[in-house]
Amino acid sequence: MKSWTSRPVPTLPGSMPAIRLFDTAAGRETALDAGPSPSMYVCGITPYDATHMGHAASYVAFDLLNRVWRDAGHRVAYVQNVTDVDDPLLERATATGVDWRDLAASQIELFQTDMEALNVLAPDRYVGAVESIALIVPAVEKLVALGLAYTVQGSNGEPDGDVYYDVEAAGKQSVAPDAWTLGAISGLAESEMLELFAERGGDPGRAGKRQALDPLLWRVAREGEPHWPGASLGAGRPGWHIECTVIAQQYLPAPFTVQGGGSDLVFPHHEMGAGHAYSLAGVPLARHYAHAGMVGLDGEKMSKSKGNLVLVSRLRAAGEDPAAIRLAILAHHYRSDWSWTDEGFAAAKAEISLWRQALGHAPEGSAAPLVARMRDALAADLNAPAAVAAVSQWAQQAMSDGGPASLTDQALVSDAVDALLGVVL
Ligand code: ZN
Repeated sequence: MKSWTSRPVPTLPGSMPAIRLFDTAAGRETALDAGPSPSMYVCGITPYDATHMGHAASYVAFDLLNRVWRDAGHRVAYVQNVTDVDDPLLERATATGVDWRDLAASQIELFQTDMEALNVLAPDRYVGAVESIALIVPAVEKLVALGLAYTVQGSNGEPDGDVYYDVEAAGKQSVAPDAWTLGAISGLAESEMLELFAERGGDPGRAGKRQALDPLLWRVAREGEPHWPGASLGAGRPGWHIECTVIAQQYLPAPFTVQGGGSDLVFPHHEMGAGHAYSLAGVPLARHYAHAGMVGLDGEKMSKSKGNLVLVSRLRAAGEDPAAIRLAILAHHYRSDWSWTDEGFAAAKAEISLWRQALGHAPEGSAAPLVARMRDALAADLNAPAAVAAVSQWAQQAMSDGGPASLTDQALVSDAVDALLGVVL
């Protein structure tokens, strides 16, 4: 599928220190052993609703990682999927009387326009679930052949043949130190897993499953639902976790460096994906797992049902500067849960205006130390608030000096704010 277009990233003099990132699976900040070619997979949207601030913050967070890697001189391989067929999309299409394909296409376009506006660098490959079905079918067949997946008989009007992953069997397949067992990524207790599984699209009560937590791999065709040829599985459509696993394995090295997403993807999505990948390939899916916090509105969880979604597209339509939206996001550490507020957005707008004015008074020799401070902040678990604070301090100093700008420093500060923070002044 076509990705969006990235703005060019300025190259900066000097060098990035070693990058550290909080790894959810390890439960601590770790040094990224990325080698010369780091690779990243960030889980994409299910295109049934416009990009709200939570999505935007998550993609901006991993955009920072992409940017610091590039600044360190690496060629980054970046893949993102788009779940262009799944239950929420089909439900929304039915509820609104729109063809599910048209709904997906329109929301993908809106998402990509939002990402371009927010200066989020495009993935090298933007891959849809539908276009990947021919790769997913043999992967599910392999799991069945390995005895790590099974079909369930239909009951209560459901057809026979849905295929589930056997988490218990998969957890016993190897005793290698890097082998996956349930909880390897999330570190959760079973009771917590059960609660989240039910909350986040799982079906713990489905009759005929071996374990409540076994996730769906292949959903056989139902009347009125789209379906594709499934070879020995029968016609149907893929589950969400196997979709990401197969796309990541197809287009990235095994293991790749970082899998990213919002913290609501830790379980079951990333947990199960890690299991599927190990079962299929005998090596971990990713070396590190990183997660961005959730964004609320004025202290409440943002959700469609509460009607309190802050949409990037709506802010753009109201004429707001996308660079200010991005700066309002960067005021919060990517791992923290935070709330979008009018005050926070107003502060970001004031800040960006100060930065723009200060460029006109950039003191000679002030840019290089600022770039070093920004790099130090970002190398330490993508501490954008500290990098933003460094720029603000620089801007206040420049304004209070009030002298004529050094053109070299002006250009370097502008380039650094663009290259490292993705904020275009
Ligand atoms: Zn995913």
